[in-house]
Amino acid sequence: MKLTILGKYGPFPAPGGACSGYLLECGQRRLLLDLGSGTLSRLLQIVPKLQIDAILLSHLHSDHMGDLLILRYALQQYNARGRNVPMPLTVIAPDTPEEEYRLLTGSGVYDITVAQDNLRARIGDISITLHRMTHPVPTYAFDIEHGGRRMFYTGDTGWREDLPALCAGADLLLADACFSEAERAGGGIAPHLTASEAGRIAKEGGVKRLLCTHLWGGGCDEAQLRAEACAQFPDSAVAAEMQSYLI
Ligand SMILES: [Zn+2]
Ligand SMILES: [Zn+2]
Repeated sequence: MKLTILGKYGPFPAPGGACSGYLLECGQRRLLLDLGSGTLSRLLQIVPKLQIDAILLSHLHSDHMGDLLILRYALQQYNARGRNVPMPLTVIAPDTPEEEYRLLTGSGVYDITVAQDNLRARIGDISITLHRMTHPVPTYAFDIEHGGRRMFYTGDTGWREDLPALCAGADLLLADACFSEAERAGGGIAPHLTASEAGRIAKEGGVKRLLCTHLWGGGCDEAQLRAEACAQFPDSAVAAEMQSYLI
């Protein structure tokens, strides 16, 4: 499997950056994990014909699904102009908040399977299992297996005791690691993991590698986040936009 970071920021992008969105290539198949603002432009640099097999949306916050609203136009326009782009496109996503969900339905562009805790899905030879996380709206982590390799994407979530067991043994953990411990101590922040908590999950879960993502777009100290993750789990890195990672 090959994971490419299309965007790593939330809940808004850093200057020149993009919100959460990840391309996962598994053999001949391509999945998108979230598609926040700014990620479609980057996806088109890599997959200009938009040959995507499915989109997995962790939740319906705009920093994770904003570009699906623009992707609608791309799919409709390309097909109207005779380019054979796959449509409707398979999407797995929660069906709430209702007003956000309605934006994805009705156009005939997306064929949506509603996310549920422990839902198992197959896209060709890729196995996907969903797990409900802790966030202000229904949010799911994705456990993805292909060809004997496995990655686990937390989506957005606060600390959960079950996370180490859920991701145990994964080859790559892609984790929300929004805050340093100092920022957490400052209080008043939404349910997200700190880099240290992401490292603890990686350590207790015995994963092979941790990639920290969902950095604050307003400016964050990446070296500090990496140091806090590495203090728990040495094989930690902060995701780099448009970089690919072999799993
Ligand atoms: Zn987010
Ligand atoms: Zn969120």
